[in-house]
Amino acid sequence: MAGDGPTLTNLVGVLALQGAFGLHVDALDALGVESKLIRVESDLAGVDRLIIPGGESTTMSMMLDRNDLREPLAARIGDGLPVFGTCAGMILLAVDVSDGRADQVGFSAVDIGVRRNGYGRQNQSFTTELPVPVLDAAIPAVFIRAPRVERVGDGVDVLAKLDGDPVLCRSGSVLVSSFHPELSQDRRLHRYFCDLN
Ligand code: GLN
Repeated sequence: MAGDGPTLTNLVGVLALQGAFGLHVDALDALGVESKLIRVESDLAGVDRLIIPGGESTTMSMMLDRNDLREPLAARIGDGLPVFGTCAGMILLAVDVSDGRADQVGFSAVDIGVRRNGYGRQNQSFTTELPVPVLDAAIPAVFIRAPRVERVGDGVDVLAKLDGDPVLCRSGSVLVSSFHPELSQDRRLHRYFCDLN
């Protein structure tokens, strides 16, 4: 798995304002994919893909403004930059957010509605083997205060479901997961993202 095959990716930016960005870097390293931490606009130079990690979407929203990163990132995403949002990253990319904070603003890049913490609190975290047909495999999926997808718009493909609810969705070059793929050693979803075009 790790390091197998060619990749179309040159340089993956990993938003590093807050949260679990380091483990995404580790996953990309394991695949032999180059990555770069993104904290300010100039970091975006040369990046041709972006991961928005899990963590706390309200804090990341605030930091996007504090670091003057919201507009340049929105522009790149609007231009079709492939983006993978995991957990809090999914929340930041969703069109509708329930149980969010009033001052929390995202990128509205994928037409889904999510409920923050829709899978319960920290102590209700769980891991499951999730069948993902596009990977032709089941992968370990870790849910921690995860967003629950409550609405899926036209043009959004549901790539995996858990108990009937979408947990992995794709809309064009935007991929979002309710769970944390970087918390397992299985790199197949990162590989899928790196080969997305
Ligand atoms: N519930 C968190 C939020 O609202 C997301 C949790 C996570 O990324 N593990 O941002």
